[in-house]
Amino acid sequence: MNPTIAVIRGDGIGPEIMDATLHVLEAMGLGLNYEFVEAGLAAYEKEGELLPEKTLETIARLGVALKSPLTTPVGEGFSSINVALRRRFDLYANVRPAISFPNTKARYQGIDIITVRENTEGAYIGEGQALSADGETATLTQKITRKGSERIVRYAFELARSAARKKVTVVHKANILKTTSGLFLRVAREVAAQYPDIDFNEMIVDNTCMQLVMRPEQFDVIVTTNLFGDIISDLCAGLVGGLGLAPGANIGKDAAIFEAVHGTAPDIAGRGIANPVALLLGTTQMLGHINMEPAARRLRRAIINTMEARDHLTADLGGSGSTMEFARAIAARVND
Ligand code: ATP
Repeated sequence: MNPTIAVIRGDGIGPEIMDATLHVLEAMGLGLNYEFVEAGLAAYEKEGELLPEKTLETIARLGVALKSPLTTPVGEGFSSINVALRRRFDLYANVRPAISFPNTKARYQGIDIITVRENTEGAYIGEGQALSADGETATLTQKITRKGSERIVRYAFELARSAARKKVTVVHKANILKTTSGLFLRVAREVAAQYPDIDFNEMIVDNTCMQLVMRPEQFDVIVTTNLFGDIISDLCAGLVGGLGLAPGANIGKDAAIFEAVHGTAPDIAGRGIANPVALLLGTTQMLGHINMEPAARRLRRAIINTMEARDHLTADLGGSGSTMEFARAIAARVND
C-alpha cells in the first residue's frame, strides 16, 4: 500500500510553499496519498482551535506529517504550536541537515553536516522557571536523564550508520556543567562503544562553535542537548546560506513531522515569491524516513541541479522566479 502523509498547509507563505512541494512530489510519480489537516491560524479561523483534535488524531494514525510554518497567535494558550506538537508526540529527535548548494552566497562549499538535537529535556524546556518577588533573581531547573540521553545518542549513531556517515561528534559542556552535561557525555560514550564502525569524538560547545566557523568540513553528524542543539543547528544553517535552505525533522517513536525551519514570513506572504527549497528538503528527509531513500536522493539532486542552472531561482537566491516557476523547474528535473 502506498504511504499516506498528513499535510498541514500552514500560515503565511505556508500554503504557497506546500503547493509548490506537492507539485514536485506529483511529478516524481511516487503514488503518495495525502490527508489534509489544519493547524495554526488557519485552523483557529475555521474551527476556533489552534491544534484541533482531528489534526492530532490524523498525525497519530498516519505517523508521518509534512508541515508548513504555522502562526501561533499571542495569548491563545500555547507559547508555540510546534512545541505543543513535539510534546504531544514525544518527538525527541530534531534532525537538521545543513548542506551546501551551488550559487548561494554561503561562506563555504562542500558542507554536509547533520545536527541531531535532543528535543525534550534540558534548559530549553523551561522547567522550574521562577522569578523572585523583587524581580532580582531568576531560576530554572535543568533536567537531563539517562533515558533521554541514550535514545538521542543512539538515534544519531543509527542515522550515521544508515546514511553511511563516518563520524559522530558529541557536543557538551561537561567540564563546567558536571552533572547535566556530564551525564549526557557519559551516556554518549557508552552508546558510542556499541558502534565501533562509526568514529566518535567529543567537543566542548564553545570550541565547537569556533571550529564550525573555521573548519566546518571536519564535522559529519553532531549530537547534543536541546539548547546547544538549537544554537548550533542555526549556526550550521548560516554556514550554508541561511534559513531559506534549512529543513528540519522532528522524530519520535510513533510519529515524525517534517518541515522548513523558517517561519511564516508574513512580509512576503501571498505574493508567490517564497523559496520552497527548505520545505522540499524537509520532504527529502520525509522520503528517507518512509523508506524511499532513492526518491529522496532524486529530489535532492533535482534541487541541486536547478540551483546550479540558476533556473527560475526565487529572489532570496538572487533570481526573479516565482515560487511555482522555481518548483516547476525542479519538477522538470526529478526524473533525470
Ligand atoms: P515567524 O514569526 O513565523 O517566525 P518571521 O518573519 O519572524 O516569521 P521568518 O518567517 O523565518 O521569521 O522570516 C525571516 C525573514 O526571512 C523574512 O524576511 C522572510 O521574508 C524571509 N524568509 C523566510 N522564509 C523564506 C522563504 N521560504 N523564502 C524567502 N524568504 C524567506
